[in-house]
Amino acid sequence: MAEQHYDLIVIGGGSGGLSVAEQAARHGTRCALIEAGRLGGTCVNVGCVPKKIMWYAAHLAHALDDAAGYGFRLDYFGFNWRKLQVARDAFVHNINEWYLGYLANAGVELIRGFGRFVDAHTLDVTGEVYTADHIVIATGGHPQVPELSGAEFGITSDGFFELKSCPPRAAIVGSGYIAVELAGMLHALGSEVTLLVRKDQVLRPFDALLREQLMERLHEDGITVLTRTQVRAVARLANSALSLDCEGQASVLHVDTLIWAIGRAPNTNALNLAAAGVATQPNGSIPTDPLQNTNVPGVYAIGDVTERFHLTPVAIATGRRLADRLFGGHPERRLSYENIPTVVFSHPPIGTVGLTEEEARSQFGSTVKIYQTQFRPMYHAFTTRQPQTAMKLVCVGPEEKIVGCHLIGEGADEMLQGFAVAIRMGATKRDFDDTVAIHPTGAEELVTMR
Ligand code: FAD
Ligand code: NDP
Repeated sequence: MAEQHYDLIVIGGGSGGLSVAEQAARHGTRCALIEAGRLGGTCVNVGCVPKKIMWYAAHLAHALDDAAGYGFRLDYFGFNWRKLQVARDAFVHNINEWYLGYLANAGVELIRGFGRFVDAHTLDVTGEVYTADHIVIATGGHPQVPELSGAEFGITSDGFFELKSCPPRAAIVGSGYIAVELAGMLHALGSEVTLLVRKDQVLRPFDALLREQLMERLHEDGITVLTRTQVRAVARLANSALSLDCEGQASVLHVDTLIWAIGRAPNTNALNLAAAGVATQPNGSIPTDPLQNTNVPGVYAIGDVTERFHLTPVAIATGRRLADRLFGGHPERRLSYENIPTVVFSHPPIGTVGLTEEEARSQFGSTVKIYQTQFRPMYHAFTTRQPQTAMKLVCVGPEEKIVGCHLIGEGADEMLQGFAVAIRMGATKRDFDDTVAIHPTGAEELVTMR
């Protein structure tokens, strides 16, 4: 029994759990990590990693279309979805294996199975009991499916990664990151895509410039966006297609694949949190203070199981900081949730950090000054596709401190990181103006805006 007591037990081996465990072990703690599925969690297995591979494939599909304008004559033999899927899955499998070594090297004990609380310091994993002074809940989330007749005929982003071929006709329901990312990828790889958006726009929490520009890009690309449209029921037809009974801009839609992308819910239901006395919000997420403490001393929560930014680097950063705080002698260490940069891997991609114009105006009123530009990138001088790039800087006060930076266009995904550093350091418009541009690039427009 003595071997089964740890300084720290982490429930969940995803982005957050792996990071807190490794960092805690580096600080010399005796640490175990419980994982019910594949190491790496959502990001590695059914999120960022396989998604980015599909995004690269879609990007290549666009590049092949663009090549003719640059004088290339290509014989095109189509796209082998299955071949990419096999390579992608092997890549992911290697990461799963790599994490085994990562934990072993760090000295973290891996416990395979599903963890449930017995009390605030005790966990049950398939009948074995483990105790710890500190327990971190890093159990992530899962995709939501609406409660309506035939909803089970649809898949979610998890099912997208299991598709064996590119569906000829796909309907995607939702308007967030996943909906627009999957819409762009499927369209580029050959699907006829319909996006069903229940309100007026996609990506509603984002800056208006990004929302409007992305809506235009989706239309120009040939993706059908049905706004103010909701699915009422789904039925399977004799030919195995799906019939969607809709309300709004369409009444009936026939598709081969339906994808629900309507948000994710935290994995807390089966944890028996009540036994530990850990409080949850009505949606199941675990409230924490800025130091990641739950309402129960010694029990912490990080990553997607909490309410804050559901992004891999956020889960990693909170995990590492929590370990530093608990075991590394930095009692105040925590993540600042201001200026978290994020990218939407749409086509073209979006990069955004800081306040939207709307948020800045409501906080700072008339002291807000906006710099905005829109242009056709030089790359598209010879291509049939002509997606524009758009950029906005949100500045505040007489010194024009930059509090928001919003980009959509070719390369926005790679452009943002460095600018996020500058903005985090308090850069002003003058700092941007005083920075010599790199020419010819899209990014130079950010330091030459008037
Ligand atoms: P997870 O990574 O979900 O890990 C939780 C782990 O806990 C899982 O492995 C699960 O099996 C395990 N678990 C759950 N309950 C138990 C239990 N009781 N006992 C034992 N184990 C348990 N973020 C980005 O930053 N960039 C992106 O490009 C990006 N793309 C995404 C694309 C998609 C399609 C999705 C769905 C998400 C994407 N995200 C992206 C979000 C990112 O994947 C998550 O924010 C991140 O994985 C959260 O990490 P986590 O550690 O909180 O949870
Ligand atoms: P999001 O929270 O981004 O978006 C879901 C949206 O779907 C809601 O905001 C809502 O928008 C709409 N919606 C909700 N319920 C319904 C419904 N019943 N019918 C129709 N539409 C509905 O969730 P996602 O699932 O796209 O992604 C989950 C999280 O994962 C993201 O928030 C992000 O944190 C992370 N992620 C990050 C990525 C990245 O970093 N690139 C990529 C993918 C995911 P509205 O109210 O406007 O209708």
